[in-house]
Amino acid sequence: MNTSRSAELFEKAKTYFPGGVNSPVRAFRSVGGNPLFIEKGKGSHIWDADGNEYIDYCCSWGPLILGHANDTVLNAVDKTMRKGTSFGAPTKLENELAELILSNNKFIEKLRFVSSGTEAVMSAIRLARGFTKRNKILKFEGCYHGHVDSLLVKAGSGLVTFGNSSSAGVPESFVNETIVVPLHNKQAVEEAFVKFKNEIACIIIEPVPANNGLLLQGKEFLQFLREICTANNTLLIFDEVISGFRLGFCGVAGLYNIKPDIITYGKIIGGGFPVGAYGASKEIMSNISPEGEVYQAGTLSGNPVAMSAGIAQLTELLKPNFYKELEEKTNYLVAGILKVNTFKLFKLFSLGSIYWIAFTDKESVSSADDIDANSMGYFKTLYHGLLQNGVYLGPSGYEVGFVSSAHTKEDLDKTILAFEKSLAHL
Ligand SMILES: *Cc1c(COP(=O)(O)O)cnc(C)c1O
Repeated sequence: MNTSRSAELFEKAKTYFPGGVNSPVRAFRSVGGNPLFIEKGKGSHIWDADGNEYIDYCCSWGPLILGHANDTVLNAVDKTMRKGTSFGAPTKLENELAELILSNNKFIEKLRFVSSGTEAVMSAIRLARGFTKRNKILKFEGCYHGHVDSLLVKAGSGLVTFGNSSSAGVPESFVNETIVVPLHNKQAVEEAFVKFKNEIACIIIEPVPANNGLLLQGKEFLQFLREICTANNTLLIFDEVISGFRLGFCGVAGLYNIKPDIITYGKIIGGGFPVGAYGASKEIMSNISPEGEVYQAGTLSGNPVAMSAGIAQLTELLKPNFYKELEEKTNYLVAGILKVNTFKLFKLFSLGSIYWIAFTDKESVSSADDIDANSMGYFKTLYHGLLQNGVYLGPSGYEVGFVSSAHTKEDLDKTILAFEKSLAHL
């Protein structure tokens, strides 16, 4: 496989950007080698700068649930952008996307559009603090919520801890407002509420954590969080930036019928454009400026081009059987890969159209501690084998794969064959 053009572009990129990229995981550091520069995509396929073709399961890290360059989305974008790309004033399209979401989602009554998942989470945290007039927040080790200062915090030693920042540049005083506990551990959450009684503004969780492997929590644990938050006047935030519109139109809230106080969205909501959102009840949302005293704004928020992409994409998701068919495809893929996993080198965990390859002997992996960092060497070998055989995954063993509605049975069969060939090297 010739990848010389990608290599050349990467050398150039390194002179412009730290590590040659505009978001760290793209640099291929955890799988080694040079990142592929992508030239174009259509449906489930992408082509790199050297003309190599791949079946893509990264799907831009989740947003492209209809696949690349979907015609319906492109037509909507084309029509809108010719009328102007941004006004910094309200447009009808914001109403339309909000109506589409709110009329199909019983868990939130009002929302606010922003331009990324990080922004949605950052605003939701501020809202929770403003609403409860408390400062501390509780997060779980193994959940990712974007690059918000107070959430770039990892667990210290002990069950209930103030974490250590996982990035330079985050003041210790910020870190001291963030409590970090392990996933799927009721006792740790209970202890936190004892230790910090009446101090915790919110619990934030990815209800289906999918940024550090796929750490399935199950309904019961989430139900427990709902109850303990209610009992302590603490808000429950579901960060559904990855799971929203992916595990059903109403995400995990809808899947398990659990009502969080605030939900954050991103990724799929913008049809491939930079959009995020946070939503809650009318009462909670009335605290946001200009109605209330929690300030939050954005020059390009509700951008018409992005709104029209969102409308076009979400409209497709509401069609009958959309999610059922997507899940069936994923189940077919997972079963096929497991069949060629003759030596049982890995487990495949999946939910809806998300799957994760885990090199582990464990029957279930539900907390960050369950992941064996040493196993990532196997993923690396598998990864490059798959690339050679025309299959592109997100370049890290901690990342999940996404199936889109554009993946065909032929794609899935080719992928299974690619796994079979690649596993031979392991
Ligand atoms: C991707 C993601 C974010 C961050 O969104 P960006 O658009 O990358 O800022 C936050 N939370 C979760 C759960 C995510 O998956």
